[in-house]
Amino acid sequence: MLTRFAPAPTGWLHLGHVLNAEYVWGAGVGVLLRIEDHDRERCRPEYDAGILADLDWLGYRYQLPVVRQSERDAVYLDAAATLRAQGLVYACDCTRARLAEARQTSEAIELRYDGHCRDRGLPLTGAAVGWRVRMDAGVEHFVDGLLGPQTQDPSAQCGDLLIRDRLGNWTYQFVAAVDDFRQGIDLVIRGVDLLASTGRQIRLARLLGRAVAPEFRHHPLVMKSAGQKLSKSDRDTGIRDLRARGWTPEQVRTAVRSAESTGDRENR
Ligand code: GLU
Ligand code: ZN
Repeated sequence: MLTRFAPAPTGWLHLGHVLNAEYVWGAGVGVLLRIEDHDRERCRPEYDAGILADLDWLGYRYQLPVVRQSERDAVYLDAAATLRAQGLVYACDCTRARLAEARQTSEAIELRYDGHCRDRGLPLTGAAVGWRVRMDAGVEHFVDGLLGPQTQDPSAQCGDLLIRDRLGNWTYQFVAAVDDFRQGIDLVIRGVDLLASTGRQIRLARLLGRAVAPEFRHHPLVMKSAGQKLSKSDRDTGIRDLRARGWTPEQVRTAVRSAESTGDRENR
């Protein structure tokens, strides 16, 4: 089996990552390191370098080469072509403001796209258009390795999925599904905050030709109280800060493992 560790270089490595790493490396299978730098606006090279240095320091060993999504444009274009050949991709020029306005109920957990541009026939090559994939109604079933049986309907949750934004950045949902497929990942281990993404990623992968979905395991997040105990400061859960304060790698890893209990959620 093959799994992956997939941080986005939009910040430093923190305790949430280390908890994920404990689950990922704890699975006892091969691990690829995938740097999820698909969003050019939010990623920074110093975070990328810092994440690698902190992983090294913590002692997590991964298979080479390190894969960066920013270098895989050809792979994503090819995957998008597979979807286009099935007539599933269309251009969308909706702004965030219009989408927020069209929001059906204020309690909706996430913004569901209302299909506004589905049949407008806008050219995919136009300026400032995103690309969306038609999500037909229908449920995806999977058995989470930690949470048990799950049922999700992507068309009801998110509607037609954005795979490329209006600036030309590939979206997380798309590149994660493409890479998990193309890299032969058959075990995906991540925080429960991404649980709602799984049905749509399974759907996308099937549309791309993936016959068997990976196994998914969604684990609890690092709790805020634990983070506070570890760092005595709300924001200061960066590994590099703990390191600068004299923590050893073993202390960090042990602390994260034992901290995984009760308290408030901390953002990943
Ligand atoms: N890059 C994502 C994150 O840092 C993880 C994606 C995934 O594991 O599917 O939250
Ligand atoms: Zn639109």
